[in-house]
Amino acid sequence: MAATTRWRIGVIGDPVAHSLSPDFQQPALDALRIPAQFERWHTPAATLPERVAGLRAPDALGACVTVPHKLAVMALLDEIAPSARAVGAVNTIVPVENRLVGENTDAAGYAAALRDVCPRPASRPAVVLGAGGAARAVIAALRSLGVPAITVANRNPQRAAQLIDELGADDLTPIGMDRDDLRGRLAGTLLLVNATSIGWKAGEAPLDVRLLDALPPDAFVSDLTYRDTELLRAAAERGLATQDGLGMLVHQGALQFQMWTKQEAPLAIMWEAAIAGRAARD
Ligand code: NDP
Repeated sequence: MAATTRWRIGVIGDPVAHSLSPDFQQPALDALRIPAQFERWHTPAATLPERVAGLRAPDALGACVTVPHKLAVMALLDEIAPSARAVGAVNTIVPVENRLVGENTDAAGYAAALRDVCPRPASRPAVVLGAGGAARAVIAALRSLGVPAITVANRNPQRAAQLIDELGADDLTPIGMDRDDLRGRLAGTLLLVNATSIGWKAGEAPLDVRLLDALPPDAFVSDLTYRDTELLRAAAERGLATQDGLGMLVHQGALQFQMWTKQEAPLAIMWEAAIAGRAARD
């Protein structure tokens, strides 16, 4: 392509207006003087094939994939990389010599974010709330960090059991949201992760926050929601260390940036821009 051409890159989802990816990917592209425009590509399910086909154009640099397309997009790609197979979902599309490759950076992004703040994640069992796509990424990340055992607690226990059927039962235990079951599991954990979609609205929490009293005093509470949630506030009130989802978002985005551009991501610039983008939405 001509040196003056601007690359096209974007986030594919429905909705996409809320996505923070353009807020921190564009400054990163600009910082490295990569002539690319990062766009929000609102894509209803019916137009997903057309949107993905558009990535075969010579000026396409790649795409992020977000809700609800992380599973459906897999059938439209030429290759699914091991990172995406491990999670069972694609969040990144990388054009490689006329082929579209599906990757997943959520697991590695979560592992990197957790390592930033939680020094010994592998030393005790973890409890993950949720059994959707994000929970799968968290489980892959915790496994990669050597966490010895993971309890998966989900509102619909059958979904947790199904996830464990697919991912293997050696180190995973499915439970429902029964208070006594949860209390028992929380008492023996170092790490509680909220990977449900509960937390975005003020006042909502994925469990009765009084159950946090069961956690050991050195436990760590991590929430994939990238705002200050009810769960994180309740954990902090109890003196527990916490982390919201912005670290995962930025780290998974930095890995995407490297896949698309083959250059090291300017992490500090991405962090700063993500924090500013989040603040602008509050
Ligand atoms: P999914 O729709 O795949 O899964 C949603 C999960 O939330 C399910 O386990 C579901 O339980 C549970 N849930 C939904 N509503 C309720 C409720 N009312 N009470 C209890 N549990 C509920 O979503 P994802 O896994 O893709 O995303 C989950 C969260 O993770 C979202 O908030 C998303 O924004 C965040 N995320 C953050 C990332 C980051 O970079 N920080 C990256 C990816 C995701 P059930 O099975 O019973 O319906």
